[in-house]
Amino acid sequence: MMTTIKEFTLIDLENVGLFVNGEWLTSLKEGTFSVENPSTKKIVAHVPKGGQKETEKAIAAAHDAFQTWSKLTAQERADYLLKLRDLMHDHKEELATIMSLEMGKAFLEAVGEVTYAASFLTWYAEEARRIYGETIPASSPNKRLFVVKQPVGVVAAITPWNFPVAMMTRKLGPALAAGCTGIVKPASQSPLTALAFAKLVEMSGIPNGVVNIVAGSTKEISDEIFNNPIVKKISFTGSTEVGKELVVQSANQLKKLSLELGGHAPFIVFEDADLEKAAEGALASKFRNAGQTCVCANRIYVHKNIKDEFAKIFVEKVKQLKMGDSLAKNVEIGPLVNEEGVIKVKAQVEDAVNKGAKILIGGTNGNLKNGYFFEPTVLDNVTNDMDIMKEETFGPVAPLTIFESDEEVIQEANNTKYGLAAYLYTADLKRAITVSEALNFGIIGLNDALPGVAQAPFGGMNESGYGREGGHQGIRDYLEEKYISLEL
Ligand code: NAP
Repeated sequence: MMTTIKEFTLIDLENVGLFVNGEWLTSLKEGTFSVENPSTKKIVAHVPKGGQKETEKAIAAAHDAFQTWSKLTAQERADYLLKLRDLMHDHKEELATIMSLEMGKAFLEAVGEVTYAASFLTWYAEEARRIYGETIPASSPNKRLFVVKQPVGVVAAITPWNFPVAMMTRKLGPALAAGCTGIVKPASQSPLTALAFAKLVEMSGIPNGVVNIVAGSTKEISDEIFNNPIVKKISFTGSTEVGKELVVQSANQLKKLSLELGGHAPFIVFEDADLEKAAEGALASKFRNAGQTCVCANRIYVHKNIKDEFAKIFVEKVKQLKMGDSLAKNVEIGPLVNEEGVIKVKAQVEDAVNKGAKILIGGTNGNLKNGYFFEPTVLDNVTNDMDIMKEETFGPVAPLTIFESDEEVIQEANNTKYGLAAYLYTADLKRAITVSEALNFGIIGLNDALPGVAQAPFGGMNESGYGREGGHQGIRDYLEEKYISLEL
C-alpha cells in the first residue's frame, strides 16, 4: 500500500519557493532546477535556482534577525524550538512522504528520520538553558574573572541528501538555541524536504530571517557563504572530498568550520557473539537507507570459526528485505538516490567478483527497471585488495571477510583513512572494552547497530572530519567564550 497523503500542505510542488527573510522566492531570473523521484525517474518538481544574490540577501536577513534573536532569553528560544518540534511531529507523515519522493528513503524509515530530527530540537531546547559560564579565581584580591558564552553570529549549514531533515535540525537546533541565526543550503537532490521544513519554521512564528533556506547553484551559494564576512561559522555534512575543498576555502577569513564527512565502518563479529543479534545488527547497520549512510557497516569481519553460520543467518534475513517504490509502506529498501549511485555499487560488486568474491544473494538491479534500484547483496570471500574494502560503498552491499585474532582484526579495522563509526559484537566484557578502546573511530556501536541519538556526540576522526554534533558538545561551536577581567 502506498502512503495515503494526496495533497501536500507544506509545499506546492507546482510553485516551489526558496525561503529568505520570511518570504517565498518563487520566480528567479536564473530559472529552475528539477528534482527527480529515484523510484520512478519522473520529475517531481522544479525548484527556483538560487545563487549569489539570494544567498547575500539571506545572510543580510540573518544578520538583521541576529540582533533580536540573540537577545531573547534562553527560555524564549527554547519555546520556539519546542513549537517547531511539535509541528514536525504533527506533520511527520507529510515530511516523510516528501523526503521519500525526492531521495528514495523507504517511507517508514523516513518517518523515523523525522522523529529523530525532531529529537535534536527537544535536546537543544533543553541545552539552551544550560549555556553556563565560569568564574575563575583571580590572582589579586581586587580582581574578578569571568568567562561568558555568546552566540558566534550568523552561521551556515550545508547539508547532504541522505538525511535531508535530520542533518538540518542537528545543525539548526544548537545554532538557534545558542542565539545564532543562519542560512541552510540543502543538497540539490533533496531541497523539497528542506523547504517543507521552512514552512514549519514559518508556522512556528520564529521571526523572519532567523532561518533562511537557499537551494540552487552550489558554487554561487557556497562562494557567497565563504566570502561574506558576516558568516562566522559553517557546518558541513557531506563527502570527504568536498570537505577538504571547504577547509581551503575557510582559510581566507579563518571561518569556524565543522565537518561531518564520509566513513568506512568496520563491523566485527567475534567468535563469542550472539550470532542472531549480530546478524540483526549487521542488517540494520548495512541496509538502512539502502546502505546510503555515513555510518553504514562497510566491511563485515567475522571470526573464521563462525563465518559460515553467521553468513547463513545473515543471508536468511537479507532474503526477507522487500525492495520497491520507496513510498510503499511495506518496502524496506528503496532505490539509490541516482544513477551514479547504482554505477558505483555495480562497479564495486564487479571488481570484487573479478577478484574472487562470491555473491551469496543479490548482485543485480532486480526486476525493477523504472528506478535506480540495486538488490540487497551479500558478498563472501572478500579480500583487502577489493575496492569495496577501501572505498565508501553508499549502497546495499555487505562484504564478508574473515579474521582469526583480536590483534589482526583491530589492525585491519583501523587500516582506513576514515574514522567515523565502528561496530563490534562480543559477549566477552574484557574484549568489548579493550577492542572499543583500540578502534580509532568517533562512534563505537558495542553490540549496538544504531548508536546515534540526540544526546550523544556524533562525529569522526581522521578524514571523517572534525567537530561533534549532538550531545552537550554539539552546541560548543556555535558559542564564543569571552573572558572578562574586572578590576574593582
Ligand atoms: P557532497 O557531494 O559532499 O554534498 C554535500 C553537500 O555539499 C550538498 O549540499 C552539496 O550540494 C554540497 N556541495 C557539493 N560540492 C560542493 C562544493 N564544492 N562546495 C560547497 N558545497 C558543495 O555529499 P553527498 O553525496 O550529498 O552526501 C554523501 C556524503 O555525505 C557521504 O560521503 C556521506 O558519508 C557523508 N555524510 C556524512 C555524515 C556525517 O555525519 N559524518 C552524515 C551524512 C552523510 P549539491 O547537492 O548541490 O551538490
